[in-house]
Amino acid sequence: MIDERTERTLAGLAASGGLGMAPTVVITGATVEIVEDGEPKARFATAADEVAAALRALADEVGEDRGEAGEVLKAQAMMAEDPELADRVEERLDAGETLDAALAGGAGELRDMLASMDDEYLAARAADVEEVEARIRRHLAGVAERSIELTEPSVVLAHALTTADTVQLDPELIRGFATETGGPTSHVAIIARSLGVPAVVGVSGLMSEATDGAVSVIDGTNGTVVLDPADATAAEIDERLAADAARRRAEAELRGVEVVFDGMALDITANAAGADDIARAAAAGADGIGLFRTEFLFLDRAEAPTEDEQYALYRSAGEDVAAGTPDRSRRSQVIIRTYDIGGDKPADFLELPEEENPFLGVRGVRLYPETRDLLETQLAAVARAAATADLAVMVPMVAGPEDLVLVREVLAEQTERLVAAGHEVGEVEIGAMVEVPAAAVMAGALAEHAAFLSIGTNDLTQYTMAADRGEARLAHLQDPVHPALLRLCKMTVDGAATHGVPVGVCGLAAADPTAALLFAGLGISKLSVAAASVNTIKSIVSAADPAEVRAVATAALDAADAEAVRALVAPLLANTGA
Ligand code: PEP
Ligand code: MG
Repeated sequence: MIDERTERTLAGLAASGGLGMAPTVVITGATVEIVEDGEPKARFATAADEVAAALRALADEVGEDRGEAGEVLKAQAMMAEDPELADRVEERLDAGETLDAALAGGAGELRDMLASMDDEYLAARAADVEEVEARIRRHLAGVAERSIELTEPSVVLAHALTTADTVQLDPELIRGFATETGGPTSHVAIIARSLGVPAVVGVSGLMSEATDGAVSVIDGTNGTVVLDPADATAAEIDERLAADAARRRAEAELRGVEVVFDGMALDITANAAGADDIARAAAAGADGIGLFRTEFLFLDRAEAPTEDEQYALYRSAGEDVAAGTPDRSRRSQVIIRTYDIGGDKPADFLELPEEENPFLGVRGVRLYPETRDLLETQLAAVARAAATADLAVMVPMVAGPEDLVLVREVLAEQTERLVAAGHEVGEVEIGAMVEVPAAAVMAGALAEHAAFLSIGTNDLTQYTMAADRGEARLAHLQDPVHPALLRLCKMTVDGAATHGVPVGVCGLAAADPTAALLFAGLGISKLSVAAASVNTIKSIVSAADPAEVRAVATAALDAADAEAVRALVAPLLANTGA
């Protein structure tokens, strides 16, 4: 007998894709109160120091094994010792508050301040404050840190999970987790994604429904949790899990395999924004790096990165990717995007003036004339690293060929200076990003001066549709398969072809299966996606029939809207097993 009555489905926010089903381990967190006893300032200082040391020790233990967790734990250790927190707590103690209230109030102020920042990175740090506060609180109350020991394949359900909790989840046994708190950009969500563990966050009512030991299903792609699935549901989930496992096996077989689409090599490369991503790309066997975002080197710091620092990073990026793909020549190129500062990415040390419309302001290449020294340093570092690695640069926010002149001039100048100083240098191709509609329209003229073009669909969509890429209410205007976008892609490919210049796509759309097929059908020869998607996209494009894809892509150019385009591609996609 199927007992349908016990099955409950709770909706939350999709935090990390995938499906998991297993008996549930419910993690409860007790409220901890600090008893007033002894000199509160000294007690706080000792607790903060010891918590910092414990977090550092945990970070060392974790190393690089658990995705980004090690880095987050190190950042939390610094936060525990941060005078900003100590000052706030002490001020409240001086005003006569209890240690319990002063800790809650001081940490609360810091958390609210960070949460209100118009900066995703800083806003995410607010959750760190919460985790650090809870840890100091437990230390002061003499309550041991909770330990989560899984003894069999399990799904974990909790009100909240800290970074320290996630590193305890045995990767062999954890099948997924869900929490009542948190958003898709919270640390636990990011860590879950980097570990490939299905996760759902922000599930209200989860704790009152969860039963320890009962079976739960985490659907991290759709953002749902099914508690006590009925037999029929469990059987369906089992089938989906088996299909997923088969797909993963098939994808693993594609590691390092070259995709030939319509007789032409189609490189599936990875995006990167740091050394960790480079390692993931090499592990996935990506055909090189199609977009190395270098802004992270410039943001949140007091001074610009030096030539040596950049040289070391670019050189190891090139070498690591090549080591991951030893049997290939041109397919381990790393395309370094010159700094794309401005818009939503301010660099504190530059003290740039406020702009009314930062996305339409002095960002990307438009900033280079007034920051020529930064460009010189970056291009010198690339030229030196290119002596031992296959590197190219590509320039963001190009509107036309004139935007490449300064980059070319500075690269030549720096190469000459380095050679005169006895340095080894290598050849560096210069490409242009196509993310301003003018660049797509003028692609022929641009291609005359560029070694390759790379379409940045994130910005090209926002500028074509005049819809801020971060504005959730404009989602209906942000679909990159809108025929307006596809026509601009076609213009870019056709324009570039007049000079024999290849065109890639490096925006998020490259990892959207529908868009990826359309790009292949329009003659794009490189797709750059997150490392985790490299082999999925490879399997989809390899499974499709090129003639059919080309015909659908051509028809899509004349569709009325994005929805119609998706409907056209759906039958093709179904045949690829996506
Ligand atoms: C893009 O705009 O599509 C792109 C790849 O650049 P970013 O997302 O870094 O602006
Ligand atoms: Mg962009």
